[in-house]
Amino acid sequence: MPEVKVANLSKQFGDNAVLRDISFTIADGEFFTLLGPSGCGKSTTLACIAGLERPTAGSIAVGPATFVDAGTFVPPEGRNLGMVFQSYALWPHMTVAQNLAMPLRIRKVDRRTQDELITEALGKVGLAELKDRYPHQLSGGQQQRVALARALVYSPSVLLLDEPLSNLDAQLREQARAWLKRLQEELGITTVYVTHDQEEALALSDRIAVMSRGDMVQIGTPKEIYETPATAEVAAFVGRCN
Ligand code: ADP
Ligand code: MG
Repeated sequence: MPEVKVANLSKQFGDNAVLRDISFTIADGEFFTLLGPSGCGKSTTLACIAGLERPTAGSIAVGPATFVDAGTFVPPEGRNLGMVFQSYALWPHMTVAQNLAMPLRIRKVDRRTQDELITEALGKVGLAELKDRYPHQLSGGQQQRVALARALVYSPSVLLLDEPLSNLDAQLREQARAWLKRLQEELGITTVYVTHDQEEALALSDRIAVMSRGDMVQIGTPKEIYETPATAEVAAFVGRCN
């Protein structure tokens, strides 16, 4: 698994500077969380890594591959990243297995290998027996796991998760958090996780990057962020009371 290197990333939408000179490096196998209030630029950062947005400046590399640099822009399909977004959007007219087959068909994986990979990916999220169900026949938590399996099915080098638990109710979210952590420990896949939920970030992450209005404010372990917040804003956001 490669490291992810984001350097001096900036993004403007018109006159609006949404990301200002953001830099961070994620180690091989690390669970790295972008944390901050709504509108601070977390999803835009993830979209730049995914190739769904084109940065105004800066560079992005995963392992030896440069995705973005002055003069370089690798399109999303050339990046081999797994993505799960807030609305996990399974295709409603396809079964679970068909949903997982889609990214493999796009990659021209042969039929037999498709079946093997689908079974393996569903096994990872504990849903192998539900492969012939349609999305509406699954609970919210199960749909979310299928979306994760679909992101894992082609062995991405990095997993990008944008508020994947936010559509779940509180109790399901608690469960989902537990198995997400277990899965990450088992797979050891480098993960960039986006959330505005401080508790979730503290519970899941190896390291947390706190963002505020397009700036990177602090990067550290959950303990560091919680015990020695760099600014009053981080302290207030992470919920430590002095
Ligand atoms: P977060 O995920 O932290 O809530 P976003 O990255 O979605 O924040 O958004 C950061 C800012 O960028 C917001 O002010 C948002 O309105 C703006 N923004 C995001 N996407 C676009 C876009 N495609 N066009 C214009 N502005 C955008
Ligand atoms: Mg967002």
